Amino acid sequence: MITTRFAPSPTGKLHLGHAYAAKVAYDLANKEESRFLVRFEDIDHTRVRPEYYDEILKDLEWLGLSWDGEPWRQKDRLKHYEKALEQLKELSVVYPCYCTRREVEEELAHLAQAPQGPEGPLYPGTCRGLKNAPRDRDPAWRLDSKKAASLIGPLSFQDKIHGDIKIVPELLGDVILARKDIGTSYHLAVVVDDAAQEITHVTRGEDLLPSTHVHRILQSLLGLPEPKYLHHELVTDQSGERLAKRNDAQAIASLRKRGISAEEVKKMFSTASCSPN
Ligand code: GLU
Ligand code: ZN
Repeated sequence: MITTRFAPSPTGKLHLGHAYAAKVAYDLANKEESRFLVRFEDIDHTRVRPEYYDEILKDLEWLGLSWDGEPWRQKDRLKHYEKALEQLKELSVVYPCYCTRREVEEELAHLAQAPQGPEGPLYPGTCRGLKNAPRDRDPAWRLDSKKAASLIGPLSFQDKIHGDIKIVPELLGDVILARKDIGTSYHLAVVVDDAAQEITHVTRGEDLLPSTHVHRILQSLLGLPEPKYLHHELVTDQSGERLAKRNDAQAIASLRKRGISAEEVKKMFSTASCSPN
């Protein structure tokens, strides 16, 4: 039995790129006894707009991508993420970080060789091993990636498109696992929920390949099962440019208003360079 999920953030309209991601997950679970779930990634309350929960579901329905059960909302699950963070604290693989964004930038600017990740410089580890915590600030919690690496041993993941990928524990460095304002993060929440919903196949855009390294580390530390992965290409326009996320012309609702049918929208995907077969 296959269980997949689509995990949109209710921070904007459903666009072609999101709809494609939903269809990949739907198609993979389009067999007897398989399940396709929807989970809203809404922990970042500063960016959530309440009207988008229903709008996104309405667009999925219109596209014929029907889901099983009630969609989950991550904001209802904060205590589960807190529990996972406690487990990581007990293992001493997280540490409190008191840096502001500006302090991190200043620190990086002063380093002769800032540590580099796939998306730019990494946190330089300023607060790792900190003795005197400032009392006037709440901390964020960061993964101690070196310590984690020493506990887990070699890990990898199976990707339906990219093959067998070996985990590089320091790829994203000491990432934040709990933001000081929301108490959790995408990485922690997605790992806890993929396990809680017994997701067998995690499908998502290949821009998130580096994040999967962090997720496998967390699964191993927290004793959670390892799903299979499928990181699909991102939808591009005819010239190969990645679609601008917030380009309203590509919103499913706009296409519908222009009289384009759901079948035609889905055909746009099959002619894109991104069909995962
Ligand atoms: N909300 C994420 C996105 O839209 C999905 C992340 C995931 O599927 O793990 O890219
Ligand atoms: Zn810090």
